Amino acid sequence: MITITKSEVTQIIEKQRNFFASGQTKDVNFRLEQLHKLKQLVTENEQPITQALKADLNKSEFEAYLSEISVVQEINYAIKNVKKWAKPKKADVPLDFFSYSGKIYPEPLGLVLIISPWNYPFSLIISPLVGAIAAGNCAIIKPSELAPHTSSLVAELVPQYFQSEYIAVVEGGVETSQELLAQKFDHIFFTGGTAIGKIVMEAAAKHLTPVTLELGGKSPCIVDTDINLEHTARRITWGKFMNAGQTCIAPDYLLVDQNIKKDLIAALQKTIKELYGENPAQSPDYGRIISHRHFERLTKFLNNGKIIVGGETNYEEKYIAPTILDDVALSDPVMQEEIFGPILPVIEYTDIKDAIALINSQSKPLALYLFTQNQNLQKRILQETSSGGVCLNDTIMQVGVSSLPFGGVGDSGMGNYHGKASFDTFSHYKSVLKNSFWFDLNWRYAPYKDKLSLL
Ligand code: NAD
Repeated sequence: MITITKSEVTQIIEKQRNFFASGQTKDVNFRLEQLHKLKQLVTENEQPITQALKADLNKSEFEAYLSEISVVQEINYAIKNVKKWAKPKKADVPLDFFSYSGKIYPEPLGLVLIISPWNYPFSLIISPLVGAIAAGNCAIIKPSELAPHTSSLVAELVPQYFQSEYIAVVEGGVETSQELLAQKFDHIFFTGGTAIGKIVMEAAAKHLTPVTLELGGKSPCIVDTDINLEHTARRITWGKFMNAGQTCIAPDYLLVDQNIKKDLIAALQKTIKELYGENPAQSPDYGRIISHRHFERLTKFLNNGKIIVGGETNYEEKYIAPTILDDVALSDPVMQEEIFGPILPVIEYTDIKDAIALINSQSKPLALYLFTQNQNLQKRILQETSSGGVCLNDTIMQVGVSSLPFGGVGDSGMGNYHGKASFDTFSHYKSVLKNSFWFDLNWRYAPYKDKLSLL
């Protein structure tokens, strides 16, 4: 990985500013062409992308396809809709504005910075880029240094499809990130942890740059008794243990009705075996922890509560088995910090109001999951809790629907993206009011004497 110098960063920015000023990106046909190129970048390189993800995270080919290459759906959605999104929209004007017309023009912001994390290192850099391109911006993208194979592949591929005056990749770690953040951008789109999100926002504030922060948190998963147990267990196991639990919207912990806890744990144990075999360390479908630092952070959680499923670890391989913890105290670190790994604490409740109170006592999560067929309970949870998004009777799938804006609230982030929301994130909506010269009523001009009575 080549670390970039300050003068190199300034040079790229200057070139991109000039390119943006040429006005080319404002042409919607240009944007469409670039979206097609981005699609080609993904579809023509599925194999090297899959290999890089395998090397970084031991990601299986299937998961790589499902959660990373599938970013093509997002590109297709933008290709289908960008002309419609980019059109000025007529705005209603009040009756007494009869000589006026109002329009809202979406316009690109200019030069945007996209910083992404390592857990879905390909899709989380490409997905926001779709919005940046569709809205007509230039972009600098910085993949995560913790997924070095994917980062260098992105740095190799992007220049084959885009000129750097338009889209440029800057590789590097914290120092590079800070070098970039010191510059003035027209928007910063950051995906990562809450603590770093604060650093990003502080840096952006110096230039009054707007930010979108896609952050993390502890996403609760409530399980009521009114469920299909087998389906519930499978959907939770899949959502929690895919990518070895390193998913921002993975169910962080379970809140289970005590009447179903025993059955649910038995069903989860069975499902883990069905999905990953007797020994998940040998499963071709089970991932690894990204780094030894994260491995050590996670293995400390294994001292909290009682391990009832899994718990095996291998430092060399950065392997942690799919693990379920019982008897966890709310004051334990595993219940205080975002887990972001394959460890699932189970907390039981006897009254749903206690589960709601627990959720509301913590920072607002990115996702909330509820398994129940009871519609009143569904309504109650939606009404009495706040989270970035909610998925009822499933996990993770909400991220795959382009028409649903995706983003956090409170500590889990601000702003959102996917589909039209991505276009909106990278656009400024310019309001334009036009008057005509047919006539000029003089009621608003001085002298105002006696005019107040006309209003
Ligand atoms: P991170 O915040 O450590 O790193 C993200 C990016 O920030 C990387 O590119 C990194 O180089 C950069 N960075 C790190 N330290 C920095 C600093 N001091 N100054 C400037 N830049 C810095 O996050 P991560 O460990 O890569 O990812 C895990 C976190 O991301 C989890 O909290 C997870 O929930 C969250 N996440 C959120 C989403 C979402 O869509 N909301 C998606 C994936 C991950």
